[in-house]
Formats: sequence, C-alpha cells, structure tokens
Amino acid sequence: MELTDIPVPGFERLARAVDPESGLQAIICVHDTTLGPSLGGLRMWDYATEEEALFDVKRLARGMTYKSAVARTGLGGGKSVIIGKPATTKSEALYLAMGRFIEAFDGSYITAEDVNTSTADLEIVRRATRHVTGLSRDAGGCGDPSPFTAYGVFLGLREAVAWRRGKADLNGVRVAVQGVGSVGSGLVRHLVTAGAKVLIADRRQDRVASLVDELGVEGVAESEILFADVDVLAPCALGAILDGDSIPQLRCEIVAGAANNVLLAPEHGKLLRDRDILYAPDYVINAGGIIHIAVSLERGGYDEAASNQRVERIPEALRELWSIARAESIPASDAADRLAENILAEARPGVR
Ligand code: NAD
Repeated sequence: MELTDIPVPGFERLARAVDPESGLQAIICVHDTTLGPSLGGLRMWDYATEEEALFDVKRLARGMTYKSAVARTGLGGGKSVIIGKPATTKSEALYLAMGRFIEAFDGSYITAEDVNTSTADLEIVRRATRHVTGLSRDAGGCGDPSPFTAYGVFLGLREAVAWRRGKADLNGVRVAVQGVGSVGSGLVRHLVTAGAKVLIADRRQDRVASLVDELGVEGVAESEILFADVDVLAPCALGAILDGDSIPQLRCEIVAGAANNVLLAPEHGKLLRDRDILYAPDYVINAGGIIHIAVSLERGGYDEAASNQRVERIPEALRELWSIARAESIPASDAADRLAENILAEARPGVR
C-alpha cells in the first residue's frame, strides 16, 4: 500500500492510500485532536475527482470536530472516504486494506459506519485495526446509536418549546416529523408519550401506516409535511431541505430535528432568524448517537444509563448557544459554531 501525507493548513493530518492489490483508494482526514482522538465515519462514494473527495472529507472532518466539541464527548474530529462505487468496489480485501490504513494513524483516527458502509463492513475493518466503533452488540460494539439520537432530539425539541414559551410542556404541542426511520420513529414515540399532537410523513408508506395504526398519529402527504401548520418542524429524513424557497413557506415557530446539514447553506440560518423561527442546530441536537459511541469508548464500555445521562446535557448546550445568538444578534447556526470554537480555544495549550 502506498501512503502519502498531504499537508493541509488547519488540519492535523490528511493522508491518501492507494493499494493496487485490493483496489483501495482512500483518504483519512484528522481535523483536530485538541479534545481527544478524532472520530468520524467511513464513507464510500463514487467521487468524480479526487478534489471532490478531498473537499468532502475535510468538510465532514471539521464538522465532526465541532459536533464533538459542543457535545463534550472528549473526542476530536475526523473522517475517512473510500473512493469507489459501493455496488462494485466492496470486498473483504478492500476493507482489510482500509483497516491497515486506519492502523497507520495509531489511534488518532477512530472510524464508524457512514453512508454506504455497514456494521458488517466495519467488522472486516476491525480485523486489521481496533480503532473501529459503532459495531453491533453481538460483535462487541455499542449497537445502534439511533435510540440515543432520538432521545436527544426529543429533549432538545422540548427545550426549544420551553425557550420559546417559557415552559417545557409538550402537551398539545403540534409537531410535524419528516421521515420516520430509525431516529424519526423513536422521536415520535417520545413525543406521543409527552402528549404532543404528531403529524408524520415518509417516502415509505408502510412506515407511516404502522405508526398511524400503533400510536394514532396523523399521516400526511410527503409533499405537505414541511409546510404543515404546526408549532415544531422536526426534519428526520434528508439534509438540505431548508433553503431560500422552503423557508418563506414554513408555518412553524421552531425547527428541531435529527437530519444532518438541514440548511442548504450557512446563510439560510439567517433566513430562519429573520422569520423569527427558533432553530436547534442539527449537529447539536442530533449528537445523542455520538455521545453514546463516546461513552462506550470509555473504560467500562457500553453503559446505557451513562449514555442517557450525557444525552440529557443536550438541552444545556442548546440554551448556551441560543444565549450567544441572542447576545450577539447572530443566527443560532452561527452561534453553535461560535460555541464549538470557544470550547476548542479554551482547551488549546497556552490558552488561559
Ligand atoms: P433512516 O434511513 O432510518 O430514516 C430516514 C427516513 O426518511 C426513511 O424512512 C426514509 O424513507 C425517509 N425519507 C427519505 N426521503 C424522504 C422524504 N423526501 N420525505 C419523507 N421521508 C423521507 O435514517 P435515520 O438513521 O433515522 O436518520 C435520519 C436523519 O438523521 C438523517 O439525516 C441522518 O443523517 C440523521 N442522523 C442520524 C443519526 C442516527 O443515530 N441514526 C445520528 C445523527 C444524525
């Protein structure tokens, strides 16, 4: 395997691996380990050029630094990508080579599942390096993080209602949940238990039908959920759904959901603010999963109660950033980044 370090200002380490034997072509990016070893998923994607892959891996690694900082996981941020078509590139030899590549980072990068990689793939990677997390419970891992993500989103959403209305009571509060997969369905259960009136939509009608039957929530058309007349919109499906077209049409006072990169571009945070819609920034409110993974990396391993306790701090992080947003008259999305940067700056050596 040929391993080449590529120096990039502002990033601790970025390296490319090419392994002709297995066909591996991959990049690992460690953005920042000020707060601990970097953690971030292994993505497989058919990038058109290496520049595209580099752009993505850097953006995602930096995002993980910020997410972990605000969630106070004691971890830094990193990411890795394998360049290739998922349908034809995957093989045992490829994942073993990826494991050797990760091993060359000597623990400064820890990997996890991401787009187009599964826990089964990671179990192969694990044979070549122990710096793998998020495996199934059967394989000695911490299992599916989604229930913890859902719990954190629920707590964050309730906090947003409290911030806006002065009391953390969801009884009768109307919430539209877009996407009822692993996280969305868990969120819906928490919301129903708390007395909220829940509207749901999903591309998969079977998922909608079974929750409508089981919980008595209301199913609405996929095209209507974003613009439903509700108190809270909880996007739990796709990213990039809030933009210059959709934001003016929203009929909610709060956006609080699990979906990553829910704003199409940073400036859309300002559009939400201009419409006086309170935003719970995605990477802060959806940190339950990474908090759970971080807890299971600690001595003692998997501990559900400890994970839940840490997830229960998400509302505090939200209040902190909303306070920054109010004090500095900036959008909540910018305030989240400001909070992350403050936490990192305080932890850097030489900073009092
Ligand atoms: P999932 O694939 O289990 O569920 C997503 C659901 O959204 C699916 O049921 C899908 O059919 C539905 N969907 C897709 N397009 C839709 C559309 N246009 N309208 C309505 N529904 C649509 O994924 P998940 O694990 O529940 O994750 C949901 C979101 O939360 C993703 O954006 C993910 O990146 C983010 N997230 C998940 C976790 C986690 O722990 N799973 C952690 C952090 C962030």
